[in-house]
Amino acid sequence: MPNAHISFVYDIHYRVPTSYEPINRPHTDDDLWMREAMTSLGYSGTSALAQIRGYVNELRQALETNWAFTIFVVDSLNDLDGCFTDNIDSTRKWAAYATHGGPYLVMTYDIGNNGIGNMDYATAHETCHLFYATDEYNGITQKSGYLGFMILKALVA
Ligand SMILES: [Zn+2]
Repeated sequence: MPNAHISFVYDIHYRVPTSYEPINRPHTDDDLWMREAMTSLGYSGTSALAQIRGYVNELRQALETNWAFTIFVVDSLNDLDGCFTDNIDSTRKWAAYATHGGPYLVMTYDIGNNGIGNMDYATAHETCHLFYATDEYNGITQKSGYLGFMILKALVA
């Protein structure tokens, strides 16, 4: 939307090391590999969330942006379904998710069976969750936004 006058600045780090293989774990284990990844990038803290907040805060200041967030793309090239090992429900497994209100989102390279060609869609969808947008495809009425009247879930798929 060109009339929105929004631009993006990127700080990309490829192949950030971790001793874990994130795609072979449940998405709920993300604190393990995120902590190592953020430590590798030079950010310390008592949790992955604290480390990520330190990173995005520094980014925002250094790049003079209004906001910053982190996108973790988990290598799934050698994984059969391109998903983490745990299920969302009886038919879906985790392949992309975001912290409600930020500061990070996660997706696998393949985004499940959606494929890398849909990374733009997944990024847009999950980025909206970083700004408190809720899912509308599930038919559930939810209230959200910066006023935070009601946060129904800590993580949204
Ligand atoms: Zn969603």
